[in-house]
Amino acid sequence: MRLENKVALITGAGSGIGRQAALLFAREGAAIAVADLVPQGGEETVRLVQAEGGRALFVQVDVARVADCERMVRGAEEAFGKLDVLFNNAGISHIDDGDAVSTEEGVWDLTMQVNLKGVFLGCKYGIPALRRAGGGSIINTASFVALLGAATPQLAYTASKGGVLALTRELAVVHAREKIRVNALCPGPLRTELLMKYLDTEEKRQRRLVHIPMGRFGEAIEIARAALFLASDESSYLTGATFSVDGGITAAYVTPE
Ligand code: NAD
Repeated sequence: MRLENKVALITGAGSGIGRQAALLFAREGAAIAVADLVPQGGEETVRLVQAEGGRALFVQVDVARVADCERMVRGAEEAFGKLDVLFNNAGISHIDDGDAVSTEEGVWDLTMQVNLKGVFLGCKYGIPALRRAGGGSIINTASFVALLGAATPQLAYTASKGGVLALTRELAVVHAREKIRVNALCPGPLRTELLMKYLDTEEKRQRRLVHIPMGRFGEAIEIARAALFLASDESSYLTGATFSVDGGITAAYVTPE
């Protein structure tokens, strides 16, 4: 098993990528701290992991809050004895996030709080725990939009994910000698709730698919598999990377008909 005797904390694990990662990491031997804002989703993930014979506990957190992030790391260490993997995955995409003129200050602030400050706070308390374990792996979920400009703007979201990439690189450099690896995951457009709530008609979906060389949306499990590689010792020489898993979208200039 690829994560035998490891302990992983996954934020946003009540849905989408986070839930799939919780299930996959548990199958590979890890104990999972499932952190999410929404108890129903988080508790369901725990139930699903346990139904397969895995170990998991739920911690309710708002990753934008200092006290919550401190508590989630402490909870993982107390329950499972240590922390080896921190997957800062929770993120939001606000329905009113638009261009610079239309985006309200409150939408900008909330997006930054969750998507960028949330990653900072996860690291603030997660890094000391990884040090106590003698090293580990941090995975931060960014997005392909941190690398490409989109004509349908989500300015706050895009800027927050760009911040995640910059923060990831610096953390990777600073903590490399402590055996703490830090990598950013850049998913392409996925068939999860976060995106599909916008692409709610076939016409909207087809407009987006034109830009993806593979001609389909990604699945949360396909991102979870990449996260598993980053979490495991198989990626032992990889740090500071921008790991794109995007059906070829960032490689494309013109896509096939
Ligand atoms: P999702 O909406 O299915 O899951 C996100 C989870 O995060 C939810 O369970 C939600 O309750 C939780 N969450 C939201 N705010 C939180 C907070 N303040 N504190 C704790 N938990 C909170 O979305 P997903 O598609 O699985 O997205 C996961 C990550 O991947 C996000 O960071 C997202 O930006 C990123 N991403 C998604 C796509 C996509 O197309 N879906 C593409 C690129 C990147």
